Parts: sequence; structure tokens; C-alpha cells
Amino acid sequence: MVPGPTPLPPEVLEAAASPILYARTPDFVEIFEDMLQRLGRVFQTESDVLVFASSGSGAMASAVENLAAPGERVLVASCGHFGNRWVSMCTDLGVEAVHVESEWGHPIDPATLADALDAEPDIEVVFVTQSETSTGAVSDLPALREAAGDRILVADAVSGLGVVDLPMDAWGIDVVCSGSQKGLMTPPGLGYAAVSERAMARRAKRGARAFYFDWERTQKGQRTSRSAFTPPVTLVAQQRAALERLETEGLAAVFERHRVLGRMCREGAKAAGLELLGPENSEANVVTAFRVPDGVDGKAIPKLMKDRFGISMAGGQGKLSGQIGRLGHCGYYGYSDIVTALGALELVLLELERPIELGAAVGAAQQVMAAAQRG
Ligand SMILES: *Cc1c(COP(=O)(O)O)cnc(C)c1O
Repeated sequence: MVPGPTPLPPEVLEAAASPILYARTPDFVEIFEDMLQRLGRVFQTESDVLVFASSGSGAMASAVENLAAPGERVLVASCGHFGNRWVSMCTDLGVEAVHVESEWGHPIDPATLADALDAEPDIEVVFVTQSETSTGAVSDLPALREAAGDRILVADAVSGLGVVDLPMDAWGIDVVCSGSQKGLMTPPGLGYAAVSERAMARRAKRGARAFYFDWERTQKGQRTSRSAFTPPVTLVAQQRAALERLETEGLAAVFERHRVLGRMCREGAKAAGLELLGPENSEANVVTAFRVPDGVDGKAIPKLMKDRFGISMAGGQGKLSGQIGRLGHCGYYGYSDIVTALGALELVLLELERPIELGAAVGAAQQVMAAAQRG
């Protein structure tokens, strides 16, 4: 129950046992092209989804390298640990990041972004986060798009893609970055950057600033079915299998499943006497974060969940370390995962001498499922 790497469906595990194909054979090209087409449908874009042998951070780094040069000013609007990674990336590359930060646990505030851009009219590129995994907050991308005006807008959707809706083209997001190991139900190791024509044109105007992560080189390779570098062939086969499952279930059904799981988790946590971090949001269905109750050692909850019940859950990151617990439910998760985790959480809280009525959290989650079944 951690937000990545997430559990793998059986067919994705099986795909790992297939022989290693030479990347230039028609057999592999067919798998690769099928994966690219399926990725395009999940990103909901006609643009190329560029594939890197990297974690999600690699795809994010590609966006900074291809869109900004040392000495340039860009804007980062964040609301947590991963959003702040944009700032670190820019700083390390000598790009000056003007940073506006919303309160952790809350989504990114569009008004703050608009005000910052009013004060910085020369800024041309804006970096934001769709699903802030460190707090569970999911930001309103259409509102951020509007606040960003006509600037290039780059969204980190590493944990949210395939979990909550993100129609890249319809919402006019220029670049969407993601990775294989969260909502996309594949082992870690593939980074994705879907790049609009406008963003690609900015890269073309300014020349290459990266070698491995250069968008143009990667796009050219993919368009000729001769990937620029050796692709991780096994991960490609696994990702293809995972996307087939996702499309068989149907994107809308996948989002609805996560909506129910998120609601189960929130209602369950509240029924266990826990306070949710930040305001409730019916679209924040990637990770559920709750505050560690006063008087409880924040690291004890994940440790006991693991020691007593073999359930991995996450604690807080950065400045929330020790202060929150996080249950991830992005990807290959269902009803029984949530009910089992909530049941274990109740027993852990009981052991930590919290006033707990056993079954309350599980019951609240069941009520959510019952209501969903009634429709
Ligand atoms: C996991 C995550 C990342 C980092 O991805 P890696 O694959 O670990 O590099 C970045 N942003 C968000 C929102 C994430 O959830």
C-alpha cells in the first residue's frame, strides 16, 4: 500500500519471463509500437509520448533540460515534496526557478500562480504537479492551465496518470511527465514525457541541451521504430501488458474504481478517528494521507503495519516526516486491499492505545462500496 512501486498484475509479472528480444527485430518493434499507441490513449494525446529508460524523475529532468537554459527564469508552483523537486532540478542546471508554494496537504492555488506570473511577465515556462504524492493532494489542472495564460505548462503526473483523469490535449497541457511504476502497474524503470508540438517547437528553436534526454533525438528514434538507444525490452513488454489490462477495464472505469477506493480509504480513516491531511477532494484518489494522532510516534504506525501484518505503507516525506501516514491506492488495487489495510490499521492503532472501535473503519469502507454498488 505504498504509492510506488505498486503491485503488478499477473500478466505483467508473466511478461517479465519472456525471452529478451533484440530491439531491432519486427517482434520487438510490434510490441514497442503497440505500447506507444496505448500510452497515447492513456495520456489522451495525439502528441508523441517519449519513452526513457529512467524513473519518473528522468522524464521530469528531460522537461527542464529541453525547455530551459542556464540563467533563464521559469516558474514552479508546488504544494509538497515532489513539486519542490522541480526547483532542485532547475537549480542544479543553473535555471532560475521562481517558486510559489501552497500549503502542504492543499492543492496548488491557481490564484497564487496567476499573481506570481503577473509579477514575472517574462517567464515562459511553468512547472506544476498534478498528484502530489507526498500529501495526497490532487491539483486542478484546468484551473492551473488558465492561471498560466499562454505559457508552456509542464505537469508532473508520475503518480496520477491512469488513476485520475488527465486529458492532456483537451486540457491544453504542454508536457505531461510520468513513470511506469505507479498507476501504470509496471516495475520502475520507464519514464514518459508526452510533449506537445508547441513544447517541441521551443526545444527545436533552442537546440539540444541534453544528449540522452534530448526530445528530438528520442522522437526521431520512436517515429522510425528505431529507438535512439537500447530500450529496456522487458519493461516495454510488461508495460504493454499493463496497458492492455488498463484499456480492457476502460479508462473511465479505472478512474471510477480509484474514486471508490479513495473514498473508502478516506471514510475508513475518519471512522478510525484519524484526521485527514488537508481538505477533502473527491478527485484526490491516488494516496490517502492522515495525521498521526497526538502522542503517537509517527514512525510506529508504518512499522507495526509491516511487522504485524506484512502491509507496507508510507510515512511522511520532507517536512511531514513522522507527522503523517500515507496509504497508496494507485494502480492494481481493489476492494480487498483497502479493507485489509484498514482492518490492520485499526489493530495497530489499538496496540498504540488509541480509542478504537474495531470494525468501524472497515464498516465505513464497506458502506462506501455498498453505495457505489447501488449506483
Ligand atoms: C514518484 C514520484 C516522482 C518521482 O518518480 P521516480 O520514478 O521515483 O523518479 C515524482 N513526482 C511524483 C508526484 C511522484 O509520485
